[in-house]
Amino acid sequence: MRRPSHPLADGDRKLKALPALRAALGEKSFASEAADIARRSADWRGLHHGQALAILRPDSVEQVQTIVRLCAEHGVAIVPQGGNTGLVAGSVPDDSGQQIVLCLDRLNRIRSVDPMGFSLTVEAGCLLAEVQRVAQRHGRLFPLSLGAEGSCQIGGNIATNAGGHAVMRYGSMRELVLGLEVVLPDGSLISALRGLRKDNLGYDLKHLFVGAEGTLGVVTAACLKLFPLPREVVTAFAAPANAEAAVRLLSLAKEEFGDQVTAFEFMSSEAIALAERFVPGIRMPLASAAPWFVLMEVSSQRKDGCGATLVESLLGDAFERGLIVDATVAASLEQSKALWSLREAVVEAQRLAGPSLKHDVSVPLSRVPAFLSEATAHIRARAPQVRVLPFGHLGDGNIHYNLCATNDEEVAALDLHGESLSRIVYGMVAQFGGSPSAEHGVGRVRRELLPQFRSPAELALMRRVKAALDPQGLFNPRVIFDSVTG
Ligand code: FAD
Ligand code: ZN
Repeated sequence: MRRPSHPLADGDRKLKALPALRAALGEKSFASEAADIARRSADWRGLHHGQALAILRPDSVEQVQTIVRLCAEHGVAIVPQGGNTGLVAGSVPDDSGQQIVLCLDRLNRIRSVDPMGFSLTVEAGCLLAEVQRVAQRHGRLFPLSLGAEGSCQIGGNIATNAGGHAVMRYGSMRELVLGLEVVLPDGSLISALRGLRKDNLGYDLKHLFVGAEGTLGVVTAACLKLFPLPREVVTAFAAPANAEAAVRLLSLAKEEFGDQVTAFEFMSSEAIALAERFVPGIRMPLASAAPWFVLMEVSSQRKDGCGATLVESLLGDAFERGLIVDATVAASLEQSKALWSLREAVVEAQRLAGPSLKHDVSVPLSRVPAFLSEATAHIRARAPQVRVLPFGHLGDGNIHYNLCATNDEEVAALDLHGESLSRIVYGMVAQFGGSPSAEHGVGRVRRELLPQFRSPAELALMRRVKAALDPQGLFNPRVIFDSVTG
């Protein structure tokens, strides 16, 4: 794919974009405060810093179209940005000073709620937590739930096909989208918010934009699926004898409760020890020592209040079979929240403890135990000083296989061996038939993995889709693909 030639030199074209954008949008749609600009030019962990030509905050779909049209005319690249909580640097401009950041935060209206139709339509800049609250006020559940829900936006969730805690029951974002409104790279608008459950009239275009990480268009609104609010939610915390036992416990729970098992999270004992050390107020709920711990949630429409008794009985059965050595069932909402805080603290502790190397991988569920033991043996053989702190969404075979360093010796080892350790992890993922990006996407930091995990034919088709929608290569250049135009 080649960029079309243009009479003006590239730099001149881009410079002319700014006054045209100011004239069309007005000052209110430009971020002007230094702190705001700094925050939107770097990722939340401060690992990737860029410099933007301008940071734009449109407050209507028409303004988004205007921005996209003017940028297309002047050859200016666009980086869509939601809550900027992504973990692969997809929402951050490069350091050329030539890209504009298009923030969706002012596009945050709830357009409509249809409780009887179990759907709602919201703009892309709505915070995920706000969408959950709106659904709840109408007696409905919007089930996407993840650690960053107070900051991430629906548009970002769609662009990354976000996963999180409840995927095993409700699916990831792709399964929750009924319709989308999208501004395409030529400025035209696809408004497909019909919200139909069945609609087979040709290609289902919305799926092109889910997980596209802002490379094919700007999502401006979405019609989303709602569910009945569960009447009873039971949270349990258990210590499986080993990783195989954790997978067998999950299987037992599914046999007993079917898709009422809404979450099945796991974390290593070392990951929990780090949380207790670094995050204030975190306390381990079980006294027994074990290599792994699991957090299980069972949600149902039961009216008899027997859920906790049934979960206790399942855990008793698991204990007798030697699958677990200890367990507790939350007796109150407060206790349930404390268990979830422990799970979230595992993430926070790794940030506070020091540098870490994150791998967001998935392997077939039944192969998770073998993956964990083999990958860890290889890592320890290469760099025994580095801490291996796996945790994640066991119910989906999704392991956040993170390597961390908490003191000088560990940091030196992580610095020295980091690249080869990642190669080991991804090599094992390939060997186990897994994915090197289970839920965080590709962004700018996982691009080199595509040729290893996708066939030439798949890659060629992805490039053709990109070229068809974004022939100038202006939408999030160098996200997913190596070259600007794919
Ligand atoms: P951003 O970070 O702003 O952007 C992400 C990507 O989407 C970028 O490529 C950007 O260009 C594009 N984009 C954003 N908005 C739009 C739009 N309107 N139109 C087109 N493209 C757009 N992720 C999970 O999947 N599961 C988890 O469990 C999970 N847990 C997390 C926990 C913590 C503490 C943190 C910090 C992050 C976690 N994440 C998780 C990652 C992140 O929160 C998600 O990827 C989230 O969906 C990103 O949303 P955002 O609004 O912050 O998007
Ligand atoms: Zn996750």
